[in-house]
Amino acid sequence: MQIEIITIGNEVLSGRTLDTNFAQIARALEEVSIQVGWHSTVGDTVERIGEALRTALGRADGVIMTGGLGPTPDDVTRKAVATLLGRPLQLNERVVESIRARARQLNRKLPASVETMALIPFGATLLENPVGTAPGLLIEHQGRAVFLMPGVPQEMEAILRDSVVPMLRDRSGLKVVTFTLRTSGTYESKLQEHIGNLPQQWPYASLAYLPSYFGVDLRVTVAAPDSAETVRVAEKAYAELRAVADPVLYAEGAMAMEDVVAARLLERRLKIAVAESCTGGLLAKRLTDTPGSSRYFERGYVTYSNESKTELLGVAAADIAAHGAVSETVALQMARGAAERGRADVGVAITGVAGPEGGTVDKPVGTVFVAVHDANGTVARLLKMSGSRAAIRERATQTALDMVRRRLEGLPLEGRLE
Ligand code: AMP
Ligand code: MG
Repeated sequence: MQIEIITIGNEVLSGRTLDTNFAQIARALEEVSIQVGWHSTVGDTVERIGEALRTALGRADGVIMTGGLGPTPDDVTRKAVATLLGRPLQLNERVVESIRARARQLNRKLPASVETMALIPFGATLLENPVGTAPGLLIEHQGRAVFLMPGVPQEMEAILRDSVVPMLRDRSGLKVVTFTLRTSGTYESKLQEHIGNLPQQWPYASLAYLPSYFGVDLRVTVAAPDSAETVRVAEKAYAELRAVADPVLYAEGAMAMEDVVAARLLERRLKIAVAESCTGGLLAKRLTDTPGSSRYFERGYVTYSNESKTELLGVAAADIAAHGAVSETVALQMARGAAERGRADVGVAITGVAGPEGGTVDKPVGTVFVAVHDANGTVARLLKMSGSRAAIRERATQTALDMVRRRLEGLPLEGRLE
């Protein structure tokens, strides 16, 4: 099954509004193994929209359109579709009633545009819009499904998730399973080298490498015509991929590194304190993103100046003078100071050169020391990273969290693929 996505709107065509709807739809379809064969964008005119839909119906098995369903005169998608498919617009009482109910609920006056928004091409099925006024629409045309959704991203996403994806998945007849393994501390080509051609032995499956500042996620989608086959292949792929990725694997699914760290701290009833220089609080922020973090997060020090490292964490001024603030000895003392002065069981510290200025020959931009202190002692790692300031700060934070995780799980400080 091949789908065409048509996004509609002058603001999209002019580049003022980024076409995030297209990206969202394409990603959602990829997850259920439905192929997107084409994507086009047209402005808000009846002729162009009609032309785009006619072209799409000539080549795709289904069409998904977004935009131009609103009440203003520039919203002409309904009219264009009605005209092309020969389905006159009719006032739909159910839509009128739901607009009325929504207005009552929000304590608003009934919009004057109710008449326009409730005009629906003859024979269209309504797709509930839980977050807005204009419903989505499904029109069956000569064995092909044509979906219409509003352009407002939150509304589009709700209808996509609740109606469009499930309906297309049913039509595709495929049974789909996806899983994600999250890795950190390695890079895409290295993983590829180790995974090699394993995926070729997984029929109906595809493997995607998804790199980000946090590491590389491995996402597998299996879409076989029957569920027993899907499950068999997914289990095989899962076992084989896990075995290869194990040394760098930190979580599965949507779980973030800070969630894993939180779980480990809670299991052992440990408290953590952080000392940050170049990440300026990013580590503390991530450790407190999750509700309930007061159960494991004790405090954070943002010690940017040399004086603050000495005053708040007890770092020896002589060591800063001799080795610099970006050094292993300072990182180690920061981590120990955070734990001891911060009355925590675990201390973690980051000090480095995030750039773009401030690099030297010895310590170029991207030089970061990360240290962890716990009951078993204090350890540090030197990271040499490249990229923007934002990238360096995010990756340093991720690595620091991964080091805490590794200490708590009794793993080597650094993961290496076999
Ligand atoms: P519309 O349904 O055409 O009235 O669109 C309503 C609003 O949704 C527009 O003002 C845009 O801000 C936004 N929008 C429309 N199309 C897209 C798109 N393809 N991607 C992201 N946002 C969009
Ligand atoms: Mg529009």
